[in-house]
Amino acid sequence: MHEMALMGGVFDIIKQYTADLPDKKVTRVTLVVGEMTNAVPEALEAAFEVYAKGTAVEGAELVIRRIPLTACCTACGWQGKVEEHMFICPRCSGLGLEIRSGRELYVESLEVD
Ligand SMILES: [Zn+2]
Repeated sequence: MHEMALMGGVFDIIKQYTADLPDKKVTRVTLVVGEMTNAVPEALEAAFEVYAKGTAVEGAELVIRRIPLTACCTACGWQGKVEEHMFICPRCSGLGLEIRSGRELYVESLEVD
């Protein structure tokens, strides 16, 4: 499962954050997930629970902030949301779209108690 691998990377980061806080419990993790990662929120949540089990993160709430896939056209300057991963400019039909957002996958914040 793709999301298990993604969540493994997320937990490496969480462990670095919590290494200095051995007595603390993580209550909430906010994750920023771009559309380009193709991660399914339900699968991320399932993977989150697997990784959290037996750690300081167990029982924490997972908040997923989805970032849409947007691009701009290098030919005509069009900017907007890319639907269905169709990398063709809707204005000039050019193929020179540059991704602006949607590749993100990072921990935005951790709340500890
Ligand atoms: Zn264009």
